[in-house]
Order: sequence, then structure tokens, then C-alpha cells
Amino acid sequence: MGRPALVVVLTGGIGSGKSTVSRHFEKLGVPVIDADLIAREQVAPGAPALDEIRERFGAAVITPMGGLDRDRMRGIVFEDSTKRLQLQQILHPRIRSEMQLRLEQLDTSYAVLVIPLLLESGQNSLADRILVVDTPEVRQRERVQQRDGLNETQIEQIIAAQVDRQSRLAAADDVISNDGDLQALEKAVEQLHRRYLGMAERRLISS
Ligand code: ADP
Repeated sequence: MGRPALVVVLTGGIGSGKSTVSRHFEKLGVPVIDADLIAREQVAPGAPALDEIRERFGAAVITPMGGLDRDRMRGIVFEDSTKRLQLQQILHPRIRSEMQLRLEQLDTSYAVLVIPLLLESGQNSLADRILVVDTPEVRQRERVQQRDGLNETQIEQIIAAQVDRQSRLAAADDVISNDGDLQALEKAVEQLHRRYLGMAERRLISS
């Protein structure tokens, strides 16, 4: 047991195909750790981060059930960048150490971390490689519309708040172009899987 020799961080815009890609990695036997799921756990009722959030932002951001009022919190940090930073200062170190802890419990040669807002949050210190799922924006809009039933303005706002496609591509070590069908996407994941196994093997030998 110990940290895998190779940690691949998977990122991409909303609707680019991250969940679909990560499910396929899992199907191939690769452990996948999802930063969004960890972030949700951090603000579950009774979690220490939630107490800190209550102290900083007041009881108005807590629901009657004792969880985080996500809509209200989103409204607050969307309006005020200082508050956004304060929330990040509470959450990011906790998310990072939880990801680290989970990595240390693995016994595979490589693992995938899904960090949707990798470039927006600067949470890249655990990454050996950055894998970007890239989709043309028209496809991205179509897929989000179908999946989430959001209207064009809502989709536009989310895309505008995320890092742009070029910056994401510039940060990538590897890119999966998700502009074909699901079969093509799975094939691309399988090719990368073989490469990552080889890379992890070489790292293990040379360490
Ligand atoms: P993300 O996790 O990046 O938001 P998803 O993996 O959930 O994106 O993909 C968004 C939607 O598009 C999902 O409903 C998924 O099934 C669909 N999808 C993703 N890639 C393809 C593809 N190549 N062909 C058809 N549908 C796709």
C-alpha cells in the first residue's frame, strides 16, 4: 500500500464527458477519486468544515436539516470574491488532504483523481499528469441541455464561470477529444489506460 506511482488528474468543462470517462477507467479496474463527492462530504451535517462555515458565514447558510444551504452559499460567493476565497480556504485544504489520504490507501500502480475545477481552484499539487476531456462547445451545450434540462442562459453562465477551452488545453499533458460517439470515447480511454500502465511501471522501476 502507498501512493500510486502515477496520479492522473482528470478535468474538463461541464458536460465534456468527465463522468463518462471516469466510469470507463473504473470499469478497467482503475480507482477513481472524485473531488466533487469529497467536497459534498465535507459539508454534510456534522462535518467539521460545516461548523467553520457556520462560524464564518452565519446560521443563514445552514438548512433546517443541518446541512449547507448550497443555493444561498453559491449566491454569497458569486457576489463577493473575498467570501469566495474564505470558503475556499476552509474547503480546499480539507479536500486535498482527504484525496491524499485516499490515494495512500490504494494498492494500484496508478489512479485517477477527478477534479472538475482543477484550473479554477489551483488544486493540482497531487497531479503527476493532467488529462483534459475536450469537447467542442456546441456539443457541450447540447449534452448539458439534454442531461440537466438547463436553459441556454444558465448553461452560458456556468461555461463563462469556468476556465476557457484554450487555457484548459494549454495545461493538459494528455487530451481526450470527445467529439465522436461513446464507443470512440471508450477506445480513447483504453489507449490511455495502456499508456498509463506503462508509465506507472517505469516510475516504479526507477524509484
Ligand atoms: P461531465 O461529467 O463532464 O459533466 P458527462 O460524462 O456527464 O460530463 O457527459 C455529459 C452528458 O453527455 C452525459 O449525459 C453523457 O452520457 C453524454 N455524453 C458524453 N459523451 C458522449 C458521447 N461521446 N456521445 C454521446 N453522449 C455523450
